Amino acid sequence: MASPPRFDLPTPDDSTEAFWAGTREGRLRIKRCHACRRVHFYPRPFCPHCWSEDVAWEDASGKARLYTYSVVYQNDLPPFPERVPYVAAIVELEEGPRLMTNVVDCPFDRLQVGMELEVAYRQETDDITLPVFRPPASLSGTRS
Ligand SMILES: [Zn+2]
Repeated sequence: MASPPRFDLPTPDDSTEAFWAGTREGRLRIKRCHACRRVHFYPRPFCPHCWSEDVAWEDASGKARLYTYSVVYQNDLPPFPERVPYVAAIVELEEGPRLMTNVVDCPFDRLQVGMELEVAYRQETDDITLPVFRPPASLSGTRS
């Protein structure tokens, strides 16, 4: 049975397979360079800051802040027509790298650049679990 093509799924390759293995286990993995100590994302086999190949995986905290976002009301590519409206966002991880993702479980009028977010995992297929971000459960109005 043929499924319609999907335009939301990544194609893991040698340099990202370990990342997708991580998200399947509920881990957000980034790479740290042992030459300059900086982290980077998306994962590469070398450090984009100093070009060292002495890079290794580590688990990110999963904490992030909203860097920028857009509420998408129209996208004709499957599977998005059944998802609109949704929040396309770039978040900045606590460790520094930024990634493109979706913000979920947040009313659009609560979205605010700089707001705290935490990672959540959305299983899409047997192979692919996407990291998405949502307001922390503890952020229920009164915390400063
Ligand atoms: Zn480096």
